[in-house]
Amino acid sequence: MAADSLLSPQARSTGTASLDAAREVLRRTFGHADFRGLQADVIGEIMAGRGALAVLPTGGGKSLCYQIPSLVRPGLGLVISPLIALMADQVAALQQSGVAAEKLDSNTRPDERGDIWKRVNDGTLDLLYVSPEGLMQPSMLERLSRLRLALVAIDEAHCVSQWGHDFRPEYRMLGRLADAFPDAPRLAVTATADARTREDIRAELRLKDAREFVDSFARPELALSAERKRGSGHSRVLELVAERPGRSGVIYAGSRDGVEKLAEKLLAAGVPALAYHAGLDKSLRAARLEQFLDADAAVMVATIAFGMGVDKPDVRYVIHADPPAAIEAYWQEIGRAGRDGLPAEGITLYSSSDLAWALRRIDSRDVDATVKAVQIRKVHQLYAMLDGTGCRPAAVRRYFGEHGVHACGQCDVCVDPPDAVDATEAAQKALSAVHRLGGRFGRGRIVDHLLGKSKDAPASETAMSTYGIGREFSPVGWRDLLDQLLFEGLLHEDPNDGRPLVGLGEAEAVKAVYRGERRVSMRKAPTGADAISRPGRPRKRHSGEQLGVEAADAPLFEALRAWRRERAAEQHVPPYVIFHDATLSAIARERPASAEALAKVSGVGQSKLKRYGADVLRVVRAN
Ligand code: ADP
Ligand code: ZN
Repeated sequence: MAADSLLSPQARSTGTASLDAAREVLRRTFGHADFRGLQADVIGEIMAGRGALAVLPTGGGKSLCYQIPSLVRPGLGLVISPLIALMADQVAALQQSGVAAEKLDSNTRPDERGDIWKRVNDGTLDLLYVSPEGLMQPSMLERLSRLRLALVAIDEAHCVSQWGHDFRPEYRMLGRLADAFPDAPRLAVTATADARTREDIRAELRLKDAREFVDSFARPELALSAERKRGSGHSRVLELVAERPGRSGVIYAGSRDGVEKLAEKLLAAGVPALAYHAGLDKSLRAARLEQFLDADAAVMVATIAFGMGVDKPDVRYVIHADPPAAIEAYWQEIGRAGRDGLPAEGITLYSSSDLAWALRRIDSRDVDATVKAVQIRKVHQLYAMLDGTGCRPAAVRRYFGEHGVHACGQCDVCVDPPDAVDATEAAQKALSAVHRLGGRFGRGRIVDHLLGKSKDAPASETAMSTYGIGREFSPVGWRDLLDQLLFEGLLHEDPNDGRPLVGLGEAEAVKAVYRGERRVSMRKAPTGADAISRPGRPRKRHSGEQLGVEAADAPLFEALRAWRRERAAEQHVPPYVIFHDATLSAIARERPASAEALAKVSGVGQSKLKRYGADVLRVVRAN
């Protein structure tokens, strides 16, 4: 590192010393053997008193980047976080690890507030979590500005950017922190930020000269797949959930109504499903969130109102019953699976009608044409990835600007590469049929026309040259081809209030297909399937196996989980703040016989060892 060589030998050794101190806290307090990814670099920068921007993937350990310097540097660590749930989770987990952390939010009672401020002033509190609007109240700012701060951390920093997808106007005020706390290093962290969003973060948060740390977006623990929907896709969702019993999952649906219906069907099928959307009463939402977090296996069916800041680490799958809004949202939403680093899945169902609705929604928005154009492009990029024939994570990582990306080897496309067949001739037939029918009909009627099977077709229609010219495909085959043409923009669907009409798409592109200058290729149906794309079903695995637990260790693993459930219920905290599944699975594997051996397991810090060590060793001995 060039910058380091400019430092005096003394400064350099202080830098090493403080990083050593940070590593010691990582081991002692959090129970992890060493830093991973860019953690050491980011922490080193803050320890040296400089601000930074860190873009680390979900599960990359962003929170330790500000928690540890808060413990090592003198003064209070101030963390700004957009959601109460997010703060509550982190504070509970920190307290379990023996760290003096608190949060101030609209739910904090006045007496608690007084106590927290007293500890802030005494210097006995290490970390304080606040919301942006809470922090910006003049009285709060004034009180804090009299203190020495170890650092100011801005979590989910992409919320400051209009180019991101979670824009929060109140984040815009955070630029003022540069004046309020001129001596404290400021750290902005986020999991999703393309180059443009990063630029925005730097400008808005006044981090112009801060070093930027951008880690790879790879999420090797996630196996991704996508498939075209049949109908509403609900029965497919039921199947997918039934194949994954005893695990926690999140299912995203596009509308409140869709959420309610899907949750009902799952409940009727005996799945512990919870519905969540912005139309529900606030207290009901909070109760369901808590129920989900506390459960060993629960299925949350939700709109995107559910999400940011939900850090349940043991979510084993995210299913999009309806597709996300853009690739940024996709990565963030599926990113909620597998945060504990254990294998998890992201499964997306999509259709050409979803595409048509997305475009229609953008069109009806009251924003200027350039913003619309950006949003429309983002939608097309999403569908190109979903319906494409290339490795999915590789496509996403390239989209985020990563270079030298290789295929993941575990998404549906990598595992079972689709065969493409040339369908240009059939496409020409379909396009001319749509042209002759004048964009007045839906898909079913167009397929019937191609097959020459329209009911009550007027003579004017049966006389058309396209009537019955497509007997080479089954109805399903034609539907798939029409979808393909819609995804490619060769056809255009007008949602028409739920009775969609199909017309010709982009004129130049259509002409190119007529002339044979543009080829249309289509995925070939796997043998035995009538559909074009029904990716290989994921193997059915029992939950312990997916978590790396051998059959022989499964009883111990389950016993540890049961013990954890009890201790969590006693303390009214989610089970994972006691120990993550990853830690329990390592304990089940290692079967530690002594406190020293138990302390070596990742995730077992000193405080937890003291609190739970004897219990855990007892469970190990008994199983
Ligand atoms: P993020 O906020 O980036 O999504 P978290 O900070 O919640 O990620 O960390 C994700 C998980 O990784 C947590 O369970 C955390 O304990 C674990 N973790 C973080 N840093 C390390 C490390 N250096 N070694 C082992 N596990 C770690
Ligand atoms: Zn792949």
